[in-house]
Amino acid sequence: MVKVYLDNAATTQVDTEVFRAMRPYYSLKFGNASEPHLWGQQARKAIEESRQIITQFLGAKLKEIIFTSCATESINLAHRGLIESFKVANLHSGKVPHIITSSIEHKAVLETCKHLEQIGWAKVTYLPVDEYGLASVKDVEKAIRPETVLVSIMYVNNEVGTIEPIVEIGQLLKKINPKIYFHCDATQAIQYLDCQVDKLGVDLLSLTGHKFYAPKGIGALYIRKGTPMVRQQDGGGQEYGLRAGTENVPYIVGLGKAIELIANRKSVIVNRTKSLRDRLIKGILKIPETKLTGHPAKRVPHIASFIIEGVEGEAMLLLLSDKGIAASSGSACTSGILAPSHVLTAMRISQKSAHGSLRFSLGKDTTTQDIDYVLEVMPKIVAQLRRMAPKII
Ligand code: PLP
Repeated sequence: MVKVYLDNAATTQVDTEVFRAMRPYYSLKFGNASEPHLWGQQARKAIEESRQIITQFLGAKLKEIIFTSCATESINLAHRGLIESFKVANLHSGKVPHIITSSIEHKAVLETCKHLEQIGWAKVTYLPVDEYGLASVKDVEKAIRPETVLVSIMYVNNEVGTIEPIVEIGQLLKKINPKIYFHCDATQAIQYLDCQVDKLGVDLLSLTGHKFYAPKGIGALYIRKGTPMVRQQDGGGQEYGLRAGTENVPYIVGLGKAIELIANRKSVIVNRTKSLRDRLIKGILKIPETKLTGHPAKRVPHIASFIIEGVEGEAMLLLLSDKGIAASSGSACTSGILAPSHVLTAMRISQKSAHGSLRFSLGKDTTTQDIDYVLEVMPKIVAQLRRMAPKII
């Protein structure tokens, strides 16, 4: 059967070069990096080499990168760690720190913010977005209060691919109040956009390896020197005392290798992926009653997302899967109820339309043939589902 994997925004296949780089750290070089002997030294060297690659990729400085298990952990540490440090500092003043975020962030950010609100450690403003999923710099400015300590905005939305105005928000914060810390969830941006932290003006940046050909279970957090942070996992002194637990050396090596590979091929991949994405968008929009979601121009090269009116996203995914195609939908079936995604809802897409959401996300191995196969199959699947849909009289 033909197999076309267009769900790279969900996860990617581990690159063979990444896997090869990791392998010795399961066998010959299996040491614990905290030990002073030869085995420990080898492990420590590998960790620091990987850290150096990521430091350079982000334009960070020595000791500003720590390894975590994923973006979710990085995001949790960034938000909770920063807010806890304010909580400790303001112990007797009764001031509650304020966070500004957007309503289309990943659940890792939204749920962490909600939790901090629920325990009374923070007040949170959830900014609206426009019909393209764009947050506004003006809205950030208007939301700033004397107690605002953190602004957290994603670089690229994972459902619709819109690129948020991170540089502009960074500049605004620097101008208005440089004491406000700026976190950016760069999970979907790393492979395609400039993520140099000084250009973005961020103090904290989260990433996860499995979105760019490293294994699942490894991530990193950039913490600008001087950013207050209380560790959220107590134990040993690993990762500059900010993330206790014996380091996962093979995965850390894999993350470094994956970053090295994407840095080397960035310009080629960006152009190639953009051109394939545009071919896909053009073809899908030929199907009647379909609409592109997200910003038409400010969008990342690998995400093409649509509303296909009159069909259920989940049904589309199953029929596509029967044809060997992997895609994703913004509506997830939870306990038998199809709930439209918070992102599409925030973009004021009606519940009915949101049910027909479909996301294709391309990767480095996607070919023109893959796209043409999808374009051959899709009109038939849509027609079939529309025929089956109950008519409203
Ligand atoms: N942030 C964004 C924008 C994402 O797309 C994802 C994963 O889908 C995450 C955070 C969480 O990544 P992980 O599950 O690896 O922690």
